[in-house]
Amino acid sequence: MTTAVESGAQGVRWDLTPLAPSEEAMKERLDAAVGDAAAFVERWSAKSLETIEPTSLRALLRELADIRAARYEARDWAFMLTNTDSENPAVLDIRAWVDNGSPRLDDAIRHFELAWMALPDDRARSLAEDGAVARDRHYLLGVRRFRPFMLSPAEERALSARDATAVTAWQTLRDRTLGSLSARFDDGTGEREWPLSELESARRAHPDRDVRRRAQETSTALFEPVLPVIAHCYDSLVADRLAVDDLRGHDDPIDQTNLENKIDAGVVEALLAASEAHVEIAHRWFRRKAALLGLERLDAVDLQAAAVEARQVLPWDAARRLVVDMFGGVTPALGTEAESFFSENRIDAEPRRGKTSGAFCAWPSTRVPGFVCGNWTGQLRDLVMLAHELGHGTNYALAAQAQTDNSLRQGIAIGEVPSTFAELLLVEHLLSADEDLGRALLARELDQAVMAAYMSAAFARFEQGAYALRAEGQALNADRLNALCEAAVAKVWGDAVTDELGCGKLWWASLPHFIKARFYTYAYTFAFLLAAGLVARSREPGFAERYERFLTAGGSASPAELMAVVGVDLGDPEIWNDGFAVLEGFVERMC
Ligand SMILES: [Zn+2]
Repeated sequence: MTTAVESGAQGVRWDLTPLAPSEEAMKERLDAAVGDAAAFVERWSAKSLETIEPTSLRALLRELADIRAARYEARDWAFMLTNTDSENPAVLDIRAWVDNGSPRLDDAIRHFELAWMALPDDRARSLAEDGAVARDRHYLLGVRRFRPFMLSPAEERALSARDATAVTAWQTLRDRTLGSLSARFDDGTGEREWPLSELESARRAHPDRDVRRRAQETSTALFEPVLPVIAHCYDSLVADRLAVDDLRGHDDPIDQTNLENKIDAGVVEALLAASEAHVEIAHRWFRRKAALLGLERLDAVDLQAAAVEARQVLPWDAARRLVVDMFGGVTPALGTEAESFFSENRIDAEPRRGKTSGAFCAWPSTRVPGFVCGNWTGQLRDLVMLAHELGHGTNYALAAQAQTDNSLRQGIAIGEVPSTFAELLLVEHLLSADEDLGRALLARELDQAVMAAYMSAAFARFEQGAYALRAEGQALNADRLNALCEAAVAKVWGDAVTDELGCGKLWWASLPHFIKARFYTYAYTFAFLLAAGLVARSREPGFAERYERFLTAGGSASPAELMAVVGVDLGDPEIWNDGFAVLEGFVERMC
């Protein structure tokens, strides 16, 4: 284990004062916003929207943007504190009062959106098209995509009132059931009690194959007895989602997710079909990776294990230069924005007690700057995370300069394009700067690419199968889910990957995605393939200027409009081939 001193990250902590000058100041800001939200609901009744003038609508949208900004500032602040100082009781109190106050802000936002959706089409459209509200045009039109599926206000209230028991309770039951599991295990450093989550990371990525296999066997044995409970949680949620779909008039279970992502069903189907059609590229990588690992064939337990060991620990300062150079190579503005995260102490990179293990970027609003959190140990995966999170950070930095708080954020599908693009550019950048490190990174990215471009699409197919069974009246028990899941992943693995320990069938139970939301994973496929396609386009003249415009647009346009800025036509089913061609090139470079 590298220490923070060796990796140079000791003392690299963020300074949150630009977001929250003090705890008191944040409390005052949230209290004031709660007051503003109540006044907002009072002032802008649903009735008042029926006759509102465009200039008044502009005033309304400004107030709404401030409420939204205050909401994200308070929530992100509490989130950032909890993730870096989770054992501090004062932080838990902060979280509690933010959790108490911020739903009032959600209420005001929902109040407006429901009233706005209730307006007749022609009235809403003429208001949204008025120059006075041009900056929030897409937001106004976008909210209305849910309109055809809206129920009466009383029904909407009844549905949301039961969320805590009908939805959250199943998710909590699943998390608690899995969270309580642990087993005795020895990874070579002495036997001790291992929680399931640690066993799961060991089975995926431990460098020793024997440890991976034993960790897999141990976690499978932990899963076996609880599978009926986890299956029941999933079955109940699927049944509930189908019942609500029926009330709302959705005829396909993927509809709701597509609406949230603002992506047409035809685009999603073309994406999934393209993933299936290009599966041979994944097989080529599996075979190549087996050779690198000295194996005859890759097994499921080897999928996430490093194929090429990186020889060195990268010091923090070198990583900073590397990623800032990489962003600066795309456009000077991106380089400047990336550098300011470091120079303004907006990154928390020091691993320490009380800090969670993941990485994230939070850009709360257009009024304050954004921050990145990670745990720097000098490993390649940390470098990838840094590039990924700064991909988000530089995107928000540009968008925040141009957009309102109503139009700042894209959905997850488009939102992951700049971060994935940054990861892939880092590979290109490193391959030219440091061949050895570049190859190790490329091998790692190929594993990620397989997850995004193939496995994530296969999971969407698994869900289609599960919802179809449930809609026919078949309960989703563990045996049926195992069989569906096994069949979906077997299509990706083909005969290039063995599954000696039977891990393929258990993905449905171990991944949280299917319980938390539905059809969440195809967004990764979408973002990865578009980002990979952009790598090829990035060499075309004029790309830098177009890419900057794409980032600056934030969430002010639909995914199709945003991608058109960088020359990508989402309606063209051939578009996914560009991403696969880049992926194929990456596999070739490893041969
Ligand atoms: Zn991300």
